[in-house]
Amino acid sequence: SVCDRVMVMYAGSIVEHAHAAALRDQPLHPYTVGLLTSVPSTERYQQRLVGIEGSVPATHTVLDRCAFADRCAHRIDACVAAAPPLVEVAPGRFSACVRSGELAAAVQVRDDTAVRAPASPGEVVLHVRDLRKVYRSGASTHTALDGVSFQLRRGEALGIVGESGSGKTTIARCLLGLASATGGEIELTGVGVVGSRRSTAQRRAAARVVQCVFQDPYSTLNPMHTVGATLAEALAHRGRPVTDRDGEVAALLHQVGLPAELAGRRPVALSGGQRQRVAIARALAVEPRVLVCDEPVAALDVSVQAQVLELLREVNRRGTSLLFITHDLGVVRQVTERVLVLHCGEVVEEGATDMVLDHPQHAYTQRLVASMPRVGGDWLA
Ligand code: ADP
Ligand code: MG
Repeated sequence: SVCDRVMVMYAGSIVEHAHAAALRDQPLHPYTVGLLTSVPSTERYQQRLVGIEGSVPATHTVLDRCAFADRCAHRIDACVAAAPPLVEVAPGRFSACVRSGELAAAVQVRDDTAVRAPASPGEVVLHVRDLRKVYRSGASTHTALDGVSFQLRRGEALGIVGESGSGKTTIARCLLGLASATGGEIELTGVGVVGSRRSTAQRRAAARVVQCVFQDPYSTLNPMHTVGATLAEALAHRGRPVTDRDGEVAALLHQVGLPAELAGRRPVALSGGQRQRVAIARALAVEPRVLVCDEPVAALDVSVQAQVLELLREVNRRGTSLLFITHDLGVVRQVTERVLVLHCGEVVEEGATDMVLDHPQHAYTQRLVASMPRVGGDWLA
């Protein structure tokens, strides 16, 4: 939306180059197609988010072939016989795919339907009443939350959207006991009202019910610990003894779509998407009722983002409630069925996600929706 021309890079080389509108209307390289189909639609709910399986190879391992071939559904022998050069396939349009010509016509509309399964949320698991937070530094004060109230039900996915600085992370920090609220009440079913100053027992009880996933998995995972050690430690907080450490760690990894052998690695040896999956596995170790996700995919490339969002939807379908914080309206459309719109520390609108995005009522929500960059060409509609 801001550029005239776009160059698409993959594993160290340019694989496609075109005017932005041409690229949107008809991507020629399968990698570009994968990127565009990975972007969550802001317009409508998608049954399935299609990412690109696998991850980018190290450049030096693919110098003599098409670097994308291993992840490409259209691969033929010619793709791995030599590195395909970037050639001008039409005026102003360059592609490094040996099959650009034949594939252009084959680019398809996304194969999903827009029918959202009806939500059937259960009892209230989290009740926030009139939450206030005033930050003080020296003589100055800043009101970050000004009377925020909401409920979250079992199995529900509730979104919180709002621009940067609107107070989203402050809500998460108060829920998790990382910041003390200035006023209001947080009630967790089965635990009770958790005050801003929690006793150790209360903190432990709350941590079994509410877990979190943050934006940057690298800073939330201990770089000195192997994945296995991190997950085993999390399992110990579950409240029942760990009898088969390796087996249970493997089962957790399996739950988030990772192979058991990753247990022996440290975070530095994982890709961004794998790290975020480990962070999700760690959060799921205690079998929490509520997972608070604060911009969990904001640092991931769109193709990996689609995979992680699909995983979080699966976690939600298995019954864990999600409180999903994001500034991305496409993401909130795909992951949540209800949404709160936060503006300057206040909830200005609340409702079914599709209704709020399609028919925003509050002037701020209308501005937010109008400001969304839109990706889709007609073929993506
Ligand atoms: P968001 O996550 O929506 O971007 P935050 O909850 O991080 O917003 O911040 C809300 C407001 O509170 C911002 O104006 C921010 O500058 C302020 N704020 C956040 N943390 C602190 C802090 N520790 N001290 C002072 N002000 C803070
Ligand atoms: Mg934030």
